[in-house]
This record gives sequence, structure tokens and C-alpha cells, in this order.
Amino acid sequence: MSLTPSLNSVGLTFQCPHCNFAFVKNGSWFQVISRYKCEGCGQRIRITYPDKVAIF
Ligand SMILES: [Zn+2]
Repeated sequence: MSLTPSLNSVGLTFQCPHCNFAFVKNGSWFQVISRYKCEGCGQRIRITYPDKVAIF
């Protein structure tokens, strides 16, 4: 399964599993990033491929 390129410029919402801090990033950001530091709780969050597919 491939991610839809047309969604690269669309804002997508992702929610931290630890503190439920929600943020919006472009689809292209999700495709290049594999982990991020939550702005809400400071935890490092891994974004797995299944997570990305679920978002899209
Ligand atoms: Zn968090």
C-alpha cells in the first residue's frame, strides 16, 4: 500500500498517545519523519508505517 501523494500538502492531525496533545502537520511531513518530540509532554513518539496508513 502506498501513501497518496495528493495528500502531501494537506494538514493532518496526529495525537500524542501519552498526553493526547494534538497537532497538525502536512502529509509530506508524515512521510519523511519516523519519530518526533511531543510538544505537550516532551516524550519521543515513534510514528510507524501502519500509523501513517491509518492517518491517511
Ligand atoms: Zn505528548
